[in-house]
Amino acid sequence: MRFSPGGANPDVLISECGPRDGLQILAQIMPTDAKKRWLVALHAAGLREIEVCSFVPAKLMPQMADAADVVAFARTLPGLTVLALVPNLRGAEAAIAAGAHKLTIPVSGSEEHSLANVRKTRAEMVAEVRRIVEYRNVSAPHVAVEANVSVAFGCTIAGPVPEDEVVRLCAELVEAGVDDSGLSDTTGMANPGQVRRLFGRVIREIGDRTGAAHMHNTRGLGLANNLAAYDAGVRIFDSSLGGLGGCPHAPGASGNVVTEDLVFMFEAMGVRTGIDLEKLVAARRPMRDGLPGVDVHGMIAEAGLPKGFNAATGRASP
Ligand code: ZN
Repeated sequence: MRFSPGGANPDVLISECGPRDGLQILAQIMPTDAKKRWLVALHAAGLREIEVCSFVPAKLMPQMADAADVVAFARTLPGLTVLALVPNLRGAEAAIAAGAHKLTIPVSGSEEHSLANVRKTRAEMVAEVRRIVEYRNVSAPHVAVEANVSVAFGCTIAGPVPEDEVVRLCAELVEAGVDDSGLSDTTGMANPGQVRRLFGRVIREIGDRTGAAHMHNTRGLGLANNLAAYDAGVRIFDSSLGGLGGCPHAPGASGNVVTEDLVFMFEAMGVRTGIDLEKLVAARRPMRDGLPGVDVHGMIAEAGLPKGFNAATGRASP
């Protein structure tokens, strides 16, 4: 894991993916100024890695038409790692030109999903990742590159995804030169036993190149899956404020794991996230203001913090 805890640093890295994963499936388009206000609030809450956008053709994804502008603004927030999703070399060139600190590339765990999504086989995607790494090495060696296996725990097209194939794909991505490789439960099909087992295998295979757990809460197991990943040794977690994004296949269901609830779980366990929960809950306001009428999820925002819970330190007072 490139994220190395210790000293005064947090124990885990919470990587906020709402501005990318959350926004990209909404029909609504968040105005650029609203995105900036939201980023400021997320940063003020202590988030130090935010996936701010994806570099895809604006014709396909008008929500991300302002990607370069958003990256330029996010770079002004001190100490923030500005992460951008790129599906191919062209996107990577644009993201690096805009000044992203880190690129994330999704690679499908199932052949069927890969062909349906990007019209490339998995092997062709690994080759594309290799081209991106080579471009990075020459033009921007300071930029980090991660590649996460999507639908790693189950696929809406293929159904179950063989674990051997997922582990082998992670190894191929590391061999292609990525800094780390994680696993995404893109469609919310994972269970904690499976997460513990599969991340355990990935960690045995690629060691400290193991990247993030990216869980969706579509079927209510998001937090349990993150805890299982933590127990297996994962220390980077993707989540989105208010579980923004929903799921196109399950109307009304939450999308990504809710950042506020994930931070609460860790802090209540004594696992430091570096995030101020009250400020994090307050960051829901600029998000909602920029997306009137949007579905927002989360138990902590609804129930409040338990009596005696110190939101600044994340610890219950004795
Ligand atoms: Zn996702």
